[in-house]
Amino acid sequence: MTRTTPPRPLDVEALFPELARYRGTTTRLHPRAGRPLATDSSVGGPLLWPVDEPWPVCVEPHARDRGRRLPDIRRERELWAAARRRDTGLTDAESELLDELKRTHRAPGVPETAPVPLIGLAQLYRRDVPDLLPGPDGADLLQVFWCPFEAHGRTGYEPYVHLRWRRSAEVGEVLTAPPLPELVGFAGYVPEPCVLHPERVVTYPFAGLLPQELCDRIDAWEEALEEEAEEAADRGADAAEPVGYQYDLSIPPGWHAGGYASWHRTDPYAVDCRACAAPMELLLTVDTSEWDGGSGSWKPVEDRDLPPHPFARPTEVVVGNHGELNVFACPADPGHPHRWSVQ
Ligand SMILES: [Zn+2]
Ligand SMILES: [Zn+2]
Repeated sequence: MTRTTPPRPLDVEALFPELARYRGTTTRLHPRAGRPLATDSSVGGPLLWPVDEPWPVCVEPHARDRGRRLPDIRRERELWAAARRRDTGLTDAESELLDELKRTHRAPGVPETAPVPLIGLAQLYRRDVPDLLPGPDGADLLQVFWCPFEAHGRTGYEPYVHLRWRRSAEVGEVLTAPPLPELVGFAGYVPEPCVLHPERVVTYPFAGLLPQELCDRIDAWEEALEEEAEEAADRGADAAEPVGYQYDLSIPPGWHAGGYASWHRTDPYAVDCRACAAPMELLLTVDTSEWDGGSGSWKPVEDRDLPPHPFARPTEVVVGNHGELNVFACPADPGHPHRWSVQ
């Protein structure tokens, strides 16, 4: 089934014609539960990984001796899914089992730099994703990994992301049983297998990155709409959530490749390439939720009747405080190291 973004609630370029020159495109990936193959683009699916190539690991120093077991996390999700199908809560026996499944386990004696197999998060073939930036040396397949512990970076609470580009035609025998981490620091790092339904949509930059004068006018317009909505509510009228630039008109929620990054948690900061100082571009957004915020206007037409729980979170991935991970690439040389920001 395809997924179709509804038309935007209003034509933002009719209101602010200068936005035309910043108009871009991004490809919404629309991950949905499925059974992807290694030859498919996917989130949480099998990767096209050569059998004779070492699987990537995290050796950054951090504790990795406490966490949940992968099979327990999967079993917990199955329990909830079965309860939803029955349209009941968990039985007493299931609740007891759940307590057991949620237990933290220990792996005593595991040193702080013991290699942890990374979790294969996603793979994208360029043929499927029109806005995916080009890879180095004709590479056509992007593979994304992360460490199952939230324990990196300056704060000690950041994810560790690893990306690989490869030429898919050169992969011979494929690894069928990649190594898995014994313990997982946070269940939100474990994606459910999802197939993708890529859809290209129009996008505009985060307001704070537009020229100040334009950003001010957009702010003033939004404030006026909010005031109108408040007045309508005071009169007892059924006021819909007002349309906003950030939530409805600029950057779609959910997983998407290319386009613009959102900076709604931190203020925008420059993301320059560490190798050549070029300003980097958004490669991929990994999001906790596929639709949320404001009026929910990005919810695909085909999903119109679905409640947000659990359908807005098909991947089960959680980034930071239910936010998103933006991965950036160097436009001057796609082989330069990637950077990322959590929003
Ligand atoms: Zn790590
Ligand atoms: Zn660079």
